[in-house]
Amino acid sequence: MTAKFNFIENLEKNYYSHPVVCYFCGKPLSFKKFYSQYETPKKFCSKKCKKLYIKETNDILNTEEEFSSQTEKAIHTFLTLQYPDYIIKHNLKDVYPPYEIDLCVETKEFPIYIEYNGNSSHRSRSHNLEYQINDKIKKIEICQNRQQKMIRLWSNKGLYSRPLVFEESLHKLKDSIKYLIQKNYNYGICIDIVVTFNKNNYNIDILQEKYIN
Ligand SMILES: [Zn+2]
Repeated sequence: MTAKFNFIENLEKNYYSHPVVCYFCGKPLSFKKFYSQYETPKKFCSKKCKKLYIKETNDILNTEEEFSSQTEKAIHTFLTLQYPDYIIKHNLKDVYPPYEIDLCVETKEFPIYIEYNGNSSHRSRSHNLEYQINDKIKKIEICQNRQQKMIRLWSNKGLYSRPLVFEESLHKLKDSIKYLIQKNYNYGICIDIVVTFNKNNYNIDILQEKYIN
């Protein structure tokens, strides 16, 4: 992980004044080690320390689901830095089984579900269609049936390798979250942040659908 995003660089700059220490041996963790375990509460300096800790305590470590991509992990990091008072969950399997929801910001008023749909050109056609159908099923259940809030970030190319556009998209995501909290509408809303790369340029469009029952 090379810290090429501003928010991760800032995190690294401030990190060494209060580095996190290994949960087992107490040795300070390098930023790289810290960031690779960013979402896990108990962090270790090495696999050895982790093993020894488990052996000694029989602690069942919170085996949180790994992120399916570095992009999702970066979105999660960005959100936790923006909203230190909210719980930011990821890879949620219990909201609407058997489907998985990428992320959720638990605001004081309501949950905001967040989905990231990056470049999908590497998927086969039928696979892609399956994803599209699942996206639709999730939107209908969350926004229409349950009258809840969802924000979806779409991109026709990978965002992780394009830090400037990625960060701009993340700020649009932040604006959308702010909008939902401020308005506090009592109906379902789906906001789509759509990043489209053209030949030499890109667009970020924001679309909003309301589901008033
Ligand atoms: Zn250690």
